[in-house]
Amino acid sequence: MPQQPIAKPQRIAARVADVGGMPVRRLLPTRERRTVGAWCFLDHAGPVAFEAGGGMHVGPHPHIGLQTFTWLIEGELLHSDSLGNRQWIRPGQVNVMTAGHGISHAEEAPEDRAGRSHAVQLWIALPDGQRECAPMFQHCPELPRIARGGFAITVLVGDWLGATAPATVFSPLLGADLRTDTSAATTLPLHADFEYAVLCLDGELRIDGEALVADTLLYLGLGRDTLHIETAAAAHLLLIGGTPFAEDVLIWWNFVGRTTEDMVQATHDWNHGDRFGEVPGTRLQRLAAPDVAGLQLRKATPT
Ligand code: MN
Repeated sequence: MPQQPIAKPQRIAARVADVGGMPVRRLLPTRERRTVGAWCFLDHAGPVAFEAGGGMHVGPHPHIGLQTFTWLIEGELLHSDSLGNRQWIRPGQVNVMTAGHGISHAEEAPEDRAGRSHAVQLWIALPDGQRECAPMFQHCPELPRIARGGFAITVLVGDWLGATAPATVFSPLLGADLRTDTSAATTLPLHADFEYAVLCLDGELRIDGEALVADTLLYLGLGRDTLHIETAAAAHLLLIGGTPFAEDVLIWWNFVGRTTEDMVQATHDWNHGDRFGEVPGTRLQRLAAPDVAGLQLRKATPT
Protein backbone atom coordinates (compact mmCIF):
# COMPACT_ATOMS: atom_id res chain seq x y z
CA MET A 1 0.00 0.00 0.00
CA PRO A 2 1.39 3.44 -0.85
CA GLN A 3 2.26 5.57 2.11
CA GLN A 4 -0.17 8.38 2.89
CA PRO A 5 1.29 11.70 1.76
CA ILE A 6 2.63 13.77 4.61
CA ALA A 7 0.74 17.05 4.97
CA LYS A 8 2.59 20.34 4.65
CA PRO A 9 3.47 21.61 8.13
CA GLN A 10 1.19 24.25 9.64
CA ARG A 11 2.78 27.33 11.24
CA ILE A 12 1.10 28.77 14.31
CA ALA A 13 2.33 32.11 15.70
CA ALA A 14 2.09 32.73 19.44
CA ARG A 15 -0.34 35.25 20.87
CA VAL A 16 0.66 37.20 23.94
CA ALA A 17 -1.24 36.78 27.20
CA ASP A 18 -0.63 37.54 30.88
CA VAL A 19 -0.66 34.84 33.56
CA GLY A 20 -0.30 35.99 37.17
CA GLY A 21 1.89 38.96 36.22
CA MET A 22 4.03 37.03 33.74
CA PRO A 23 3.96 37.68 30.02
CA VAL A 24 3.37 34.40 28.18
CA ARG A 25 3.21 33.38 24.55
CA ARG A 26 0.28 31.03 23.94
CA LEU A 27 0.56 28.42 21.17
CA LEU A 28 -2.42 26.18 22.04
CA PRO A 29 -5.32 26.40 21.75
CA THR A 30 -5.44 28.69 18.72
CA ARG A 31 -7.99 29.26 16.00
CA GLU A 32 -5.87 27.12 13.68
CA ARG A 33 -5.29 24.23 16.06
CA ARG A 34 -6.98 23.10 19.29
CA THR A 35 -4.94 20.01 20.20
CA VAL A 36 -1.77 18.04 19.40
CA GLY A 37 -2.51 14.53 20.68
CA ALA A 38 -4.02 15.08 24.13
CA TRP A 39 -1.99 18.31 24.57
CA CYS A 40 -4.65 21.02 24.60
CA PHE A 41 -2.89 24.08 26.01
CA LEU A 42 0.66 25.41 25.67
CA ASP A 43 2.12 28.57 27.19
CA HIS A 44 5.76 29.63 26.92
CA ALA A 45 6.45 31.86 29.95
CA GLY A 46 9.60 33.99 30.09
CA PRO A 47 12.55 34.00 30.12
CA VAL A 48 12.20 37.07 32.30
CA ALA A 49 14.09 38.65 35.20
CA PHE A 50 12.15 40.11 38.14
CA GLU A 51 12.74 42.05 41.36
CA ALA A 52 11.93 40.69 44.82
CA GLY A 53 8.14 40.30 45.05
CA GLY A 54 7.84 39.93 41.27
CA GLY A 55 7.54 36.88 39.08
CA MET A 56 4.54 34.62 38.72
CA HIS A 57 1.88 34.76 41.42
CA VAL A 58 -1.26 32.87 40.49
CA GLY A 59 -3.74 32.64 43.36
CA PRO A 60 -5.92 29.60 44.14
CA HIS A 61 -7.98 28.56 41.12
CA PRO A 62 -9.78 25.36 40.12
CA HIS A 63 -9.28 22.83 37.34
CA ILE A 64 -11.31 19.90 36.00
CA GLY A 65 -10.80 17.31 33.26
CA LEU A 66 -7.10 17.93 32.60
CA GLN A 67 -3.55 17.43 33.79
CA THR A 68 -1.41 20.55 34.20
CA PHE A 69 2.15 19.85 33.10
CA THR A 70 4.90 22.28 34.14
CA TRP A 71 8.42 22.08 32.70
CA LEU A 72 10.71 24.46 34.52
CA ILE A 73 13.69 25.80 32.58
CA GLU A 74 14.86 28.63 34.88
CA GLY A 75 13.86 29.89 38.32
CA GLU A 76 11.76 28.36 41.09
CA LEU A 77 8.02 28.01 41.56
CA LEU A 78 6.06 26.82 44.58
CA HIS A 79 3.04 24.68 43.79
CA SER A 80 0.43 24.28 46.52
CA ASP A 81 -2.88 22.48 46.10
CA SER A 82 -6.10 21.45 47.79
CA LEU A 83 -4.73 17.93 48.44
CA GLY A 84 -2.20 19.55 50.81
CA ASN A 85 0.83 19.26 48.51
CA ARG A 86 3.43 22.03 48.74
CA GLN A 87 6.20 21.42 46.23
CA TRP A 88 8.97 23.61 44.88
CA ILE A 89 9.80 22.93 41.25
CA ARG A 90 13.30 23.70 40.01
CA PRO A 91 15.05 23.72 36.62
CA GLY A 92 15.05 20.34 34.91
CA GLN A 93 11.96 19.14 36.78
CA VAL A 94 8.35 18.44 35.84
CA ASN A 95 5.18 18.76 37.92
CA VAL A 96 2.04 16.94 36.78
CA MET A 97 -1.24 17.74 38.50
CA THR A 98 -4.21 15.58 37.55
CA ALA A 99 -7.39 17.57 38.12
CA GLY A 100 -9.88 14.82 37.29
CA HIS A 101 -13.17 15.63 39.04
CA GLY A 102 -11.71 18.76 40.64
CA ILE A 103 -8.68 20.31 42.35
CA SER A 104 -7.50 23.83 43.14
CA HIS A 105 -3.95 25.11 43.30
CA ALA A 106 -1.71 28.19 43.48
CA GLU A 107 1.66 28.85 41.87
CA GLU A 108 4.12 31.45 43.10
CA ALA A 109 7.69 32.61 42.65
CA PRO A 110 9.81 33.18 45.80
CA GLU A 111 8.61 36.37 47.57
CA ASP A 112 11.82 37.48 49.17
CA ARG A 113 14.33 37.69 46.33
CA ALA A 114 14.88 38.77 42.77
CA GLY A 115 15.08 36.00 40.23
CA ARG A 116 14.44 34.72 36.75
CA SER A 117 11.64 32.68 35.38
CA HIS A 118 11.36 30.52 32.29
CA ALA A 119 8.85 27.69 31.98
CA VAL A 120 6.57 25.85 29.63
CA GLN A 121 3.10 25.14 30.96
CA LEU A 122 0.92 22.66 29.16
CA TRP A 123 -2.42 21.00 29.74
CA ILE A 124 -3.24 17.43 28.81
CA ALA A 125 -6.93 16.66 28.16
CA LEU A 126 -8.09 13.62 30.13
CA PRO A 127 -9.98 11.01 28.10
CA ASP A 128 -13.58 10.22 29.10
CA GLY A 129 -12.52 7.21 31.17
CA GLN A 130 -10.32 9.37 33.43
CA ARG A 131 -11.74 12.85 33.39
CA GLU A 132 -13.84 12.30 36.53
CA CYS A 133 -10.99 10.54 38.39
CA ALA A 134 -9.78 11.51 41.86
CA PRO A 135 -7.27 14.39 41.73
CA MET A 136 -3.56 13.67 42.23
CA PHE A 137 -0.20 15.38 42.05
CA GLN A 138 3.18 14.06 40.88
CA HIS A 139 6.56 15.76 41.17
CA CYS A 140 9.20 14.40 38.76
CA PRO A 141 12.60 15.59 40.02
CA GLU A 142 14.72 13.42 37.69
CA LEU A 143 14.09 12.97 33.99
CA PRO A 144 15.87 10.85 31.36
CA ARG A 145 18.59 12.82 29.58
CA ILE A 146 20.10 11.69 26.27
CA ALA A 147 22.78 13.16 23.99
CA ARG A 148 22.15 12.94 20.20
CA GLY A 149 23.88 14.74 17.34
CA GLY A 150 24.96 17.64 19.54
CA PHE A 151 21.55 18.03 21.24
CA ALA A 152 20.98 17.52 24.97
CA ILE A 153 17.57 15.84 25.04
CA THR A 154 15.33 15.56 28.09
CA VAL A 155 12.36 13.22 27.80
CA LEU A 156 9.60 15.04 29.68
CA VAL A 157 6.83 12.51 29.19
CA GLY A 158 6.41 9.24 27.32
CA ASP A 159 8.85 6.67 25.89
CA TRP A 160 11.47 7.88 23.44
CA LEU A 161 15.01 6.96 22.37
CA GLY A 162 14.99 4.00 24.75
CA ALA A 163 14.08 6.11 27.77
CA THR A 164 10.86 6.35 29.77
CA ALA A 165 9.84 9.51 31.59
CA PRO A 166 8.20 9.06 35.01
CA ALA A 167 5.07 11.20 34.51
CA THR A 168 1.78 9.27 34.63
CA VAL A 169 -0.49 10.14 31.71
CA PHE A 170 -3.63 8.57 30.24
CA SER A 171 -3.09 8.91 26.49
CA PRO A 172 -0.16 7.92 24.23
CA LEU A 173 1.93 11.07 24.52
CA LEU A 174 5.42 12.49 24.02
CA GLY A 175 7.07 15.61 25.34
CA ALA A 176 10.78 16.34 24.91
CA ASP A 177 13.14 19.29 25.36
CA LEU A 178 16.11 19.58 22.99
CA ARG A 179 18.89 22.04 23.47
CA THR A 180 22.28 22.85 21.99
CA ASP A 181 24.89 25.53 22.65
CA THR A 182 26.35 25.23 19.17
CA SER A 183 25.57 24.01 15.65
CA ALA A 184 23.94 20.58 15.69
CA ALA A 185 22.03 18.18 13.46
CA THR A 186 20.25 14.91 14.13
CA THR A 187 17.57 12.62 12.74
CA LEU A 188 15.27 11.19 15.39
CA PRO A 189 12.67 8.41 15.23
CA LEU A 190 8.95 9.23 15.45
CA HIS A 191 5.75 7.17 15.67
CA ALA A 192 3.88 7.46 12.36
CA ASP A 193 0.55 7.19 14.24
CA PHE A 194 1.39 10.20 16.47
CA GLU A 195 0.79 13.77 15.37
CA TYR A 196 3.67 16.07 16.37
CA ALA A 197 4.46 19.73 16.75
CA VAL A 198 7.74 21.54 17.38
CA LEU A 199 7.95 24.80 19.33
CA CYS A 200 11.15 26.78 18.92
CA LEU A 201 11.88 28.27 22.36
CA ASP A 202 15.06 30.06 21.31
CA GLY A 203 17.32 30.34 18.26
CA GLU A 204 16.60 29.29 14.68
CA LEU A 205 15.98 25.77 13.49
CA ARG A 206 15.37 23.76 10.37
CA ILE A 207 12.81 21.02 10.94
CA ASP A 208 12.71 18.57 8.01
CA GLY A 209 13.99 21.50 5.94
CA GLU A 210 11.39 24.03 7.24
CA ALA A 211 12.88 27.15 8.83
CA LEU A 212 11.49 27.85 12.31
CA VAL A 213 12.06 30.85 14.59
CA ALA A 214 11.29 31.39 18.28
CA ASP A 215 7.70 31.30 19.51
CA THR A 216 6.31 29.67 16.41
CA LEU A 217 4.72 26.24 16.62
CA LEU A 218 5.23 24.00 13.62
CA TYR A 219 2.44 21.40 13.47
CA LEU A 220 3.76 18.36 11.62
CA GLY A 221 0.67 16.14 11.57
CA LEU A 222 0.66 12.36 11.26
CA GLY A 223 2.64 9.89 9.19
CA ARG A 224 6.28 10.79 9.88
CA ASP A 225 8.64 8.14 11.17
CA THR A 226 11.67 10.43 11.40
CA LEU A 227 12.36 14.06 12.16
CA HIS A 228 15.46 15.92 11.04
CA ILE A 229 16.46 18.84 13.26
CA GLU A 230 19.27 21.16 12.33
CA THR A 231 20.67 24.43 13.64
CA ALA A 232 23.71 26.57 12.81
CA ALA A 233 23.96 27.99 16.35
CA ALA A 234 22.63 27.65 19.91
CA ALA A 235 18.96 26.66 19.90
CA HIS A 236 16.27 25.28 22.19
CA LEU A 237 13.07 23.51 21.21
CA LEU A 238 10.14 21.56 22.57
CA LEU A 239 8.73 18.55 20.74
CA ILE A 240 5.19 17.41 21.62
CA GLY A 241 3.15 14.60 20.14
CA GLY A 242 0.52 11.96 20.68
CA THR A 243 -2.22 9.99 19.01
CA PRO A 244 -4.93 12.41 17.84
CA PHE A 245 -7.35 13.03 20.70
CA ALA A 246 -10.58 11.29 19.75
CA GLU A 247 -12.98 13.39 21.83
CA ASP A 248 -14.15 16.97 21.23
CA VAL A 249 -12.60 19.11 23.93
CA LEU A 250 -14.29 22.20 25.33
CA ILE A 251 -11.97 24.56 27.20
CA TRP A 252 -13.36 27.43 29.21
CA TRP A 253 -11.33 29.39 31.80
CA ASN A 254 -9.44 26.68 33.74
CA PHE A 255 -11.82 23.87 32.93
CA VAL A 256 -11.59 21.16 30.29
CA GLY A 257 -14.82 19.32 29.60
CA ARG A 258 -17.20 18.31 26.86
CA THR A 259 -20.33 20.41 27.34
CA THR A 260 -21.47 23.87 28.43
CA GLU A 261 -23.18 22.14 31.38
CA ASP A 262 -19.77 20.87 32.61
CA MET A 263 -18.56 24.48 32.68
CA VAL A 264 -21.69 25.93 34.30
CA GLN A 265 -21.56 23.29 37.06
CA ALA A 266 -17.82 23.70 37.72
CA THR A 267 -18.18 27.51 37.87
CA HIS A 268 -21.12 27.19 40.26
CA ASP A 269 -19.16 24.79 42.49
CA TRP A 270 -16.07 27.04 42.58
CA ASN A 271 -18.13 30.15 43.32
CA HIS A 272 -19.94 28.32 46.16
CA GLY A 273 -16.81 26.80 47.72
CA ASP A 274 -17.79 23.24 46.74
CA ARG A 275 -15.85 20.41 45.07
CA PHE A 276 -12.43 22.11 44.79
CA GLY A 277 -11.32 22.27 48.46
CA GLU A 278 -9.02 24.96 49.87
CA VAL A 279 -5.37 25.67 49.13
CA PRO A 280 -3.62 25.94 52.50
CA GLY A 281 -0.56 28.06 53.16
CA THR A 282 -0.86 30.67 50.44
CA ARG A 283 -1.48 34.37 51.01
CA LEU A 284 -2.57 34.86 47.43
CA GLN A 285 -6.12 35.86 46.65
CA ARG A 286 -8.49 33.23 45.26
CA LEU A 287 -9.23 33.91 41.58
CA ALA A 288 -12.85 34.60 40.70
CA ALA A 289 -14.35 32.71 37.79
CA PRO A 290 -15.48 34.91 34.90
CA ASP A 291 -19.20 35.05 34.18
CA VAL A 292 -20.05 31.71 32.66
CA ALA A 293 -22.70 33.47 30.53
CA GLY A 294 -19.71 34.64 28.51
CA LEU A 295 -18.97 31.05 27.52
CA GLN A 296 -20.66 31.44 24.14
CA LEU A 297 -18.44 34.43 23.47
CA ARG A 298 -15.34 32.33 24.22
CA LYS A 299 -13.65 35.39 25.69
CA ALA A 300 -12.40 33.95 28.96
CA THR A 301 -8.69 33.18 28.98
CA PRO A 302 -7.20 30.38 31.02
CA THR A 303 -4.68 31.02 33.78
MN1 MN B 1 -3.56 26.22 37.13
